[in-house]
Amino acid sequence: MSIQRLGLYFLLLVFGVLGGIGFSRWYAASTVPDEQPDSLRVEERAAESDELRPRHREVVFRIGEREPEGAVAQPGVDARWVEKNREGISRLKARKFAEAAQLFEECVAAVPEERVFRANAAEALARLGNEQWEQGKLEQRQAGLASMRRAAELAPDRADIRQRLDQMQRLLASEEGNWTEILEHYELSFDGERTDLVWDSLTLSPLLESIYGEYGEHFDCWPVERGREKIRVVLYNREEFHQATGIGHWAGGVFDGAVRIPVSDLKRDKREVERVLRHEIAHAFVAFSGGRAVPGWLNEGVAQWLESSDFVQRSQHVAAVRKLFGSGPKIPLQELGGSLAELKEEARIQRAYQQSLLLIDKIERDHGERIVFQMVQGCVRKQSPEQTFRERTSLELQSVLDDL
Ligand SMILES: [Zn+2]
Repeated sequence: MSIQRLGLYFLLLVFGVLGGIGFSRWYAASTVPDEQPDSLRVEERAAESDELRPRHREVVFRIGEREPEGAVAQPGVDARWVEKNREGISRLKARKFAEAAQLFEECVAAVPEERVFRANAAEALARLGNEQWEQGKLEQRQAGLASMRRAAELAPDRADIRQRLDQMQRLLASEEGNWTEILEHYELSFDGERTDLVWDSLTLSPLLESIYGEYGEHFDCWPVERGREKIRVVLYNREEFHQATGIGHWAGGVFDGAVRIPVSDLKRDKREVERVLRHEIAHAFVAFSGGRAVPGWLNEGVAQWLESSDFVQRSQHVAAVRKLFGSGPKIPLQELGGSLAELKEEARIQRAYQQSLLLIDKIERDHGERIVFQMVQGCVRKQSPEQTFRERTSLELQSVLDDL
């Protein structure tokens, strides 16, 4: 690093510390004081001119999880490998992907031409790859990439695996040579040659820390204090963001174990960037607090509900969404367990997001916000949100949905 660059960073640091204190105070005063993939989440950017347009959409680059195959295709395969394959299937179903992959790989090594062994090994490795990737550290992302690469090798006909592999490669490449700034609870990654992003990172730091404190209280969950990795936030310019994620120009942010957002003009877009950050970091806390079993409607409902720290803004947004939602039929919650994007039809996806926000808002207004976060926490203990809700209120969640 040149002396001039060092000087620049020193100056930025001094101004940042001075400016940051004021910003932090201002921000803290504006927060509401009260009581924490296998998929890649993408949030649509709000049209600046139209705040009311449904602004969320999720595109999922997850592998289409397939049922493992039990019956071996070839005759005469040694019973030992048939048994090992069966054992692998039971580990896969128990979501012990590393153990399953190991067993299937042993089968492939013994009988390389058996299609079922190769298909099952690919399935286990692809799921393992996603799991490793989402753990966040560079070594884990690299291990995730290696697993996905091996899965693609074993199942060259699986377009979903190939697509996810391509995306992982692009995402890893997009962070190569990035400058990393270590904050108390975050790792901020961006191109250090871009002085505008250096400035932005100084502005964003107090905002990020403030969100962490607020969500820690909400979710009653302090992941970094409990030994989890710091939350990685990667800043891109808009073009790099689209190249890295392969997602169209409507995207506002992504959570794939890391929060990834495009920042082009922070001064102009500050409110929107803050909204996207709050939404994506909420997904990080949902993952920490509730694990992988949190249903899509709860995950997206909470993330949308937390987008605004300001009570008035939140109420206005909810009122606008309510108007859009109207009185049409509701989507059964069982259909909203997975990623909301899996509903395929655009209008239904929008409706699913709207319904999720309205449901969370109604639960909060009628029963208090603690129960919302308790429903998330329950998922980690395999307790469904419906069960948690019933335990706390003696009511059925369905009745709240019916009353929307
Ligand atoms: Zn979301």
